[in-house]
Amino acid sequence: MNEQLFERAKQIIPAGVNSPVRAFGSVGGIPRFIAKAQGAHVWDANGTQYIDYVGSWGTAIVGHAHPEVVEAVQAAALGGLSFGAPTEGEIAIAEEIAKIVPSVQRLRLVSSGTEATMTAIRLARGYTGRDKIVKFEGCYHGHSDSLLVKAGSGLLTFGNPSSAGVPSDLTQHTIVLPYNDVAALKQAFDELGEQIAGVILEPIAGNMNLVRATPEFVQTLRQVTEQNGAVLIYDEVMTGFRVALGGAQSLHGITPDLTTMGKVIGGGMPLAAFGGKKEIMDCISPLGGVYQAGTLSGNPVAVAAGLKTLEIIQRPDFYENLSARTQQLAQGLTSAAQASGVDFCADSVGGMFGLYFAQQFPQTYADMMASNVDGFKQFFHAMLNKNVAFGPSAYEAGFVSAAHTPELIEETIEIAKHVFAQMK
Ligand code: PLP
Repeated sequence: MNEQLFERAKQIIPAGVNSPVRAFGSVGGIPRFIAKAQGAHVWDANGTQYIDYVGSWGTAIVGHAHPEVVEAVQAAALGGLSFGAPTEGEIAIAEEIAKIVPSVQRLRLVSSGTEATMTAIRLARGYTGRDKIVKFEGCYHGHSDSLLVKAGSGLLTFGNPSSAGVPSDLTQHTIVLPYNDVAALKQAFDELGEQIAGVILEPIAGNMNLVRATPEFVQTLRQVTEQNGAVLIYDEVMTGFRVALGGAQSLHGITPDLTTMGKVIGGGMPLAAFGGKKEIMDCISPLGGVYQAGTLSGNPVAVAAGLKTLEIIQRPDFYENLSARTQQLAQGLTSAAQASGVDFCADSVGGMFGLYFAQQFPQTYADMMASNVDGFKQFFHAMLNKNVAFGPSAYEAGFVSAAHTPELIEETIEIAKHVFAQMK
C-alpha cells in the first residue's frame, strides 16, 4: 500500500509529498503514508503500527489525538470553522502564552512557524529602520526568502541563497555566522553593528539534529544586540513549551526582544505566534507601519486545540515526567550502542532529543556534518523495520510525548540493542 500510494502521489504532488523531508530523500526507501495516530503510535496505510518519535515534528507533546484535545476541537468545530473576525479564544490563548513566557508583552497569532519568523524579521527591520539580519549556520527558520540563506565564502561576506528562486540581492542583507562561535559574533557586531536590525536564533537548534547553544554564546548575543540596538529574536517554534514549559529562554535566563512559537501551541492544528516587547510589537499594522495579516490567523478550531494543550502541559509533573522519559531514551540508546562498540551518543533537553553517530555531541553545523550519516541511515531503516519510527534524516531532532510510557521507551531500547549489535 505505501508503495502504491507513493507512486500515485508522485503523479500529482511533486515528489509525492507536501514537505521535502517526508520524501525519505536523505535515507532512501518508501515513505510511510500515515493512516492514523493515537498516543505514542502511528499506523501506516498497510496497518503497521510504529512507536513514533517524530510526533508531527514536535507538535504532539501530549500524544497524538489526545482525547481532551479532540473533544475541544470537536466542540469548537460545531461552533463554526473560521470567522475572519476577533474571538474571545484568541485573547485567552494570548494571555495564557504571556503568562507562561514573561518576555511576551504583546502577541499575534498566525498559522505557521514560517509566517511567525518572516514577520518577526520584518518587524525587527521596521522597528530599527535597518536592513541587515544575522542568522546562524544550520538553523532553520521556515522558508521565507530572507531566511533561506547559507554562509558566503568568508566570515563576514553576506549569504547566498540556499534555494533557487531567492534573489541574491535580497540575501545580501542576511549575514550567516557559525553557531556557538562567540568570536565571529563579536566581530560581526564590531564591524556592522549599526546596520544590524536583528538576530534570529534557534536557542537549542533542532534542525541540524539537536545542538545546544553554549551559555557564553547566548549571553554574548544578548549583550551585543542590546549594545547595538538590534532586536534579539528567539525562534522557539520547536523549543517553545518543548524543552521546558517556558522554552529555551527560561533555561538560558535570557529575555529576548521577540519570540516566535508554533508546533506545541497549536496542539497539532495550524497555529503559530510571534510576540515580545510592547514597544516593538506596537509597530505592527494597524498600530504601526509593519504589515502582517492572515485569513486564518487565530483560527477558532486551532485555538481550541492549543488552549487545551497548554492546559494539559501545565498539570503537575508534566515536564519532570517528559524529561525523565526522554533521558531514559537517550541514555538507554547510548548504553546499547556502547555495548556493541558503535560510535554513537545521544542528548536530550526536556522532550526533545538528538541522536549522533559520532563520539561527541556536536556544537556546530560543521561538527554535525562530520557525523556518520551512513550509520544513521542503517539505524533508521533497521528500527523502522522493527516498527520504531525516527525522523527520516540524520539532521533532525526527535520528540518524546507524554504518551511514551517507560515501558514503550524500554521496548525501543531493547530493539535498538539488536540493531546496534548488527551494525558492528
Ligand atoms: N522555526 C523553527 C525553529 C522550526 O523548527 C520550524 C519548522 O520546523 C519553523 C521555524 C517553520 O515552521 P513551519 O514549518 O510551521 O512553517
